[in-house]
Amino acid sequence: MRREIFVGSVGIGGDHPISIQSMTNTDTADEKATLDQIRRLAAAGCDIVRVAVPEARVLEAFKRIVSGSPLPVIADVHFDAELAVQAIVAGAQGLRINPGNIGARSRLEPVIREAEARKIPIRIGVNAGSMEKRHRDGSAPRHERLVHSLMDHVHFFEDRGFSRIKVSVKSSSVRETVDANRLVHGACPYPIHLGVTEAGSGPEGLIKSAVGIGSLLLDGIGNTIRVSLTADPTEEVRAARAILTSIGVNSGTIDVISCPTCARTSVDLIPMVEEVKERLKSVRTATSFTIAIMGCEVNGPGEAREADLGLAFSRSRGFIFSHGRLLEKVSSDQAVDRLVEKALEMVGCCAPPL
Ligand code: SF4
Repeated sequence: MRREIFVGSVGIGGDHPISIQSMTNTDTADEKATLDQIRRLAAAGCDIVRVAVPEARVLEAFKRIVSGSPLPVIADVHFDAELAVQAIVAGAQGLRINPGNIGARSRLEPVIREAEARKIPIRIGVNAGSMEKRHRDGSAPRHERLVHSLMDHVHFFEDRGFSRIKVSVKSSSVRETVDANRLVHGACPYPIHLGVTEAGSGPEGLIKSAVGIGSLLLDGIGNTIRVSLTADPTEEVRAARAILTSIGVNSGTIDVISCPTCARTSVDLIPMVEEVKERLKSVRTATSFTIAIMGCEVNGPGEAREADLGLAFSRSRGFIFSHGRLLEKVSSDQAVDRLVEKALEMVGCCAPPL
């Protein structure tokens, strides 16, 4: 079991569930826009939010963002140790730094002291694109150099008595990210933040993140995740929840599975599935809940047998199932409405989702 840290009230490591993080992409100086985005992230299922503190002029707004945020806020600071100290003083509940770009190591001393005094954790994050020169130019495989770089920094923090540490090693290469994190898992006891950095946009970005983060989680590696997408940050949260759901971790979301459609499909299934997903995407569930939507009666009921709720179609109507048991027959044009109503009833929601 990994060591436990807390970012605000959210536990990471220990026996805490895997938490979901994202990062705002508004101007931090614009506290209204940033807080609006944080509220949308919270509604989407985000647990912890990271906010960039790129310069001292945003500190006042950052302070108000922390106090107004419904989520614990991590300050993301690069290059400037004094700014990192000021972000902690402004109320950050966690700090993310890359010690490799702060300059002389001695500059980290006041950062460590301030974080220790306020009992907040620091994520020591090393990225392939910003390794210090001595590691960047080494002859060992790059994933090993990433871990050497990380552990150098970890030892520096440990030598100063600081152990409220979270670690991350990231690369835009999925293979490198996975190999490096496997090494990190064996190299230190601290909770691990997972992500494939600069994964990109669209399906390619989603797939890179899902393969990298998902394969590590399936190996039991990783305590908190961030899907990095060139997209609205709420899409990152949606993707993170889907990754967790797909590996059997209840992320409080409804898992909608559906058949790929074929010549037997008797209705226009694709828009139906999209509508069900859209209408249920904000619903939170206490336990895992799966809906199966199948295009025909040949394989539909069988495929949907395991699902908490299933919908399959014949040429003339739809059939709603629960664990393979027929609940009701519906006309095709009412099938989505009835399925959504049934789902809300079963997960204990009486009001339409947000
Ligand atoms: Fe085709 Fe039916 Fe399978 Fe869907 S469930 S892919 S319609 S056979």
